[in-house]
Amino acid sequence: MTDSAIHTSGLTKNYGSVTALADLNLDVQRGEIFGFLGPNGAGKSTTIRTLLDQIRPTAGTATVLGLDSHADSLAIRRRIGYVPGDLALYPNLTGAETIRYFARLRGGVDHVFIDELAGRLQADLSKKVKEYSTGNRQKIGLIQAFMHRPELLILDEPNAGLDPLMQQEFLKLLAEARDAGSTVFLSSHTLSEVERIADRVGIIRDGQLVVVERIDDLKRKAVRRLDFEFARPVAPDVFSGVSGLRDVAVDGVHAHVSYEGPVTELLRAASTHEVVNLTSREADLEEIFLTYYRKDGPVSGEAAPGQKESVHVR
Ligand code: ADP
Repeated sequence: MTDSAIHTSGLTKNYGSVTALADLNLDVQRGEIFGFLGPNGAGKSTTIRTLLDQIRPTAGTATVLGLDSHADSLAIRRRIGYVPGDLALYPNLTGAETIRYFARLRGGVDHVFIDELAGRLQADLSKKVKEYSTGNRQKIGLIQAFMHRPELLILDEPNAGLDPLMQQEFLKLLAEARDAGSTVFLSSHTLSEVERIADRVGIIRDGQLVVVERIDDLKRKAVRRLDFEFARPVAPDVFSGVSGLRDVAVDGVHAHVSYEGPVTELLRAASTHEVVNLTSREADLEEIFLTYYRKDGPVSGEAAPGQKESVHVR
């Protein structure tokens, strides 16, 4: 018995010669929002579908809320909310009928809360599902996942088609669920969708978990950038020997520098010339993530550029 919300051990899934999941060891703590990130085809849906017993692993085991993903799958389904990547709905039912259908299947659902969710997401429940936009279908998916205030939300790319305002509302709903003690497992292929809300992220590539990190730690380690404008053109080696440099591009009077660690040495080197302008840019998390996404990016044991300290690699 484990106290994790989700725990997988050596989870592997082969489709013929394709390895969709390779020895996945994942641990999602209760009460956290865990972003499950990876490019398309990385194995996110395969992981989720295995957790929900929709497919059987080739090897390995998984528990959800301490229950066995296969033997206890029914009990698991009762206690979680799930938005699948490919939400299938009856085309001839209206949105309202669809929600009622889901509510009846579950039983004991708070209808006042359903109305609140529909209002907050501005879901149009009057039309038939077949007339819906992707965004409105997705809203139905979210309402049915949240309506019974589940202990664990498993959301497979749930942002598809939501406009920015609804995206905000969706993030608020996630934060409220966490504040109420629920766990959220949120899969996405873009960092920007999970960056603001996730406590931790795991990045999966080619069926392998390449890194698990707290978002705070990633931000702390991220590469920083400075752009200099000099009064006169400077030599390309103006910053040579400065420690912490990741990348330098000198173009006449301009220099664009990526670095990590203290900035003192860098400024000392720059100030041997007349600096006309200096701008500093926010640490760029995306850069780190893209490195993990790339096929030739770091794998277990190596650090990504911009990360000298070793990250928590599994
Ligand atoms: P993601 O959800 O991250 O986009 P998936 O889990 O859907 O990725 O897919 C992981 C890999 O497994 C991909 O290479 C995909 O083509 C393959 N795959 C998924 N489902 C099947 C299937 N039913 N049959 C064969 N290959 C599959």
